[in-house]
Amino acid sequence: MDSSNSTKQNNNQFLNEDPADVDNEFCPGFKDVDAFVKYGLGTVVAATKASASLPQVGDEYDLYRSFPGFQEFCETQGDGLLHCMSQIMHHHGCRAHMRDRNKLTGLEERFDLVVDSNDVILEKVGILLDDAAGVNRSQQPVMPAGFQPPKIVVSSWNRKGGDSGSGRSSETFRLLQAKNVTRPQLKFLEKVDNSNTPFTPKIFVKPNAIKPLPSCKSLRSRQRPEDLDVPAALADFIHQQRTQEHVEDMFAHPYQYELDHLALPENLLSKPEPQMYKPLAETKCSFIDNLEDLVAVNEKLTKTSEFAVDLEHHSYRSFLGITCLMQISTRDEDFIIDTLELRSELYILNEAFTDPAIVKVFHGADSDIEWLQKDLGLYIVNMFDTHQASRTLNLGRHSLDHLLKLFCNVDSDKRYQLADWRIRPLPDEMFQYARADTHYLLYVYDRLRVDLWEVGNGQPALLQMVWHKSKDISVKKYMKPLFTEDSYMDLLRKQKKAFNTQQLTAFRLLYSWRDKLARQEDESTGYVLPNHMMIKISDILPKEPQGIIACCNPVPPLVRQQVNELHLLVQQAREMPLLKVRHAWGHAIHWFFLQPEIPLFGPHDTSRVSESDFPSFTPNGKIYLKSIVNINSVDTVKDPGHLTVAQQKAGRVVESFQNPFRMYLPSNDIHISKNAKFDPSTKIYEISKRWKLQSVEQQQKEVEAKKKVKEEAKALTHYIQSHLFDIILCLHFHQESLKPGGKKRERVASETGESTPKPNKKLMKAAEKKNEDSTPPLVFKPYDYSQSDFKVFAGTQPHVFMFYLTLKNAKAQKSNACAGNRSMSFFGGKSVR
Ligand code: AMP
Ligand code: MN
Ligand code: ZN
Repeated sequence: MDSSNSTKQNNNQFLNEDPADVDNEFCPGFKDVDAFVKYGLGTVVAATKASASLPQVGDEYDLYRSFPGFQEFCETQGDGLLHCMSQIMHHHGCRAHMRDRNKLTGLEERFDLVVDSNDVILEKVGILLDDAAGVNRSQQPVMPAGFQPPKIVVSSWNRKGGDSGSGRSSETFRLLQAKNVTRPQLKFLEKVDNSNTPFTPKIFVKPNAIKPLPSCKSLRSRQRPEDLDVPAALADFIHQQRTQEHVEDMFAHPYQYELDHLALPENLLSKPEPQMYKPLAETKCSFIDNLEDLVAVNEKLTKTSEFAVDLEHHSYRSFLGITCLMQISTRDEDFIIDTLELRSELYILNEAFTDPAIVKVFHGADSDIEWLQKDLGLYIVNMFDTHQASRTLNLGRHSLDHLLKLFCNVDSDKRYQLADWRIRPLPDEMFQYARADTHYLLYVYDRLRVDLWEVGNGQPALLQMVWHKSKDISVKKYMKPLFTEDSYMDLLRKQKKAFNTQQLTAFRLLYSWRDKLARQEDESTGYVLPNHMMIKISDILPKEPQGIIACCNPVPPLVRQQVNELHLLVQQAREMPLLKVRHAWGHAIHWFFLQPEIPLFGPHDTSRVSESDFPSFTPNGKIYLKSIVNINSVDTVKDPGHLTVAQQKAGRVVESFQNPFRMYLPSNDIHISKNAKFDPSTKIYEISKRWKLQSVEQQQKEVEAKKKVKEEAKALTHYIQSHLFDIILCLHFHQESLKPGGKKRERVASETGESTPKPNKKLMKAAEKKNEDSTPPLVFKPYDYSQSDFKVFAGTQPHVFMFYLTLKNAKAQKSNACAGNRSMSFFGGKSVR
């Protein structure tokens, strides 16, 4: 607390003390913005320092807390702070119950409030800065002197030609970018996949593999195992089994096996000798933006025993975010790699990154691990996370700046952490900042290991623990954000808004509009329509488009462009019957999902409710009321003629999310680990839930169809197994009978010594021809050959055709499934790399 006073005095130099100038003051006591900012920043830094020097919760704090004087002091200070924060939040129109000492609004909830408010304030600041730069008003980009402005930048980066999903194919927006940053996405060789489908690893070669990758090549050869010497039906069966394996492989972490079997070398579990970092001035630092240099970096890395890695990422002007920079430091050299330029080439670093003999040192790698997978197809085997080490050592503060100060006495400046890392050429300040993130990290790694060794009483237990925690981070899989029918509820739950049915509908429609547009335009949802604006529109339900604009200050560009669309969505929401929905956030969030006996409409009011809208059990056991909560309310109304324009539009927005995964799936089931499927914290759980939310009717159909195919396949396999010899004979006899005069003899099993002949195409064709005028038997029944005379195989009896038809049937079913698989990015489209 003392330090804050002294800073105030230090900052007095910025205060305006000349009474003559008072009229020109920017605000009371400050002559201009600069003075105000400097004073403000000084105060904030002092406060942060003071708070950091308070006793830490968990150790000293509890002891201090046992003194009444300390307790009282903390409480009054705490109340004062909360009051101050509440006022700031109120001022910005955020929810603010900071001082509410209600047990329900616990620490976590207050933390949420602070995070939300920060978002709101930062968003305002960002957009106001854009505004001040004239970006929004004039729609003109800010260009450096001598820069040739681009002609027109169309915002629809990822839109396919002729894609008329929303009926707006002819519209292209003339959206110019904020500031003079070129969208890096434009130059990506492989277009970003924002589709609402699960992420599949971007890996097609696997260095340092113990368990090989189901590589593209082997996948292709496995696609149709016709060249196997087995009957076609068996080949199909094998193919189906393999297809299922592929789906599992596709979702798996490519290095799961290697990470699970990672054994650390003995020398990593002993006390190290710290190796001092080289001074910045004496260290070579290269900017890598071409493949040749990258190959050279890789060569160097593979010869080291450890190197440090960090990434910089941008997430505002992209749906999934973009990794912009990779910093790597060895003991001798620093590299700053342009991951925008080398995005499609960086996979080559997997050679060093997955080498279990090379330690990769990161600080706080949780996000880095995901970004590496998402953008670059890179994985880490053998990582040491200095953040985890700091936690294990209970160092109190675990940020990189703290470790740098502690071990290297370096004052780092985290100002650029949130800079726009897409900027090229990279300004020198940002270059230097990025470099400092890894330059000292190997030394920090040494020092932390020494401490871990010593704190662990000369035993490797603590070191092992850090390696173990780091491995748990490496094994994390990147999951794409997926839109599900109740994703909007997750957001609403966080906001704890009590909405009526109309507001809830508006929120749901806006949420899906925003998600769809963000994916299509490759923008973050926060850029398309920030949460607090979306809540405000849903809350107010403006009658006029102008009212929507009024809810947003400043107005996001895409909201301005699509205000009519938004207006129709709000109108559609206003047409809902007005009912209050009781929200008991926190406990019974699914109140209206779970209470079928308290329908939102009167039990006899069927005026607006179709049959399918009544509470129904979904396969995951959840009961839901489609008409209110389910996004399908619009499409369940049978006659589109009865819908208003607004309803139809809303329906179309919503329709685009119907069954986004269907085309990618061989079956209704997804093949991922059962644990993941039932662990609500995983995104896979969300995906599987989303799949389960398909209409029950369609599901039943599919289940029936699948059951039928399964039964047929089972009967067939059984049949083949028990009658293999009969079949060969049968085919042989039939074949013989087709030959005019025994000319041009076909190769047969007996001649070549093969026990299982390939399916004979001629025979199949002939059989097909014959079958044109006979009705195809629907159900396959094994023929009892024991009752037969082999003469009946002379081409007139139908069972050979039956056999063939069953094959054909099964084949058709399965090749459908294959088609779906083939369209997955994992199998194809890798040529750009
Ligand atoms: P760092 O590991 O500190 O270099 O941060 C890597 C990236 O994480 C930055 O480029 C930012 O995109 C993101 N980032 C870091 N800190 C924050 C933060 N406080 N809030 C949001 N994003 C952050
Ligand atoms: Mn980092
Ligand atoms: Zn960094």
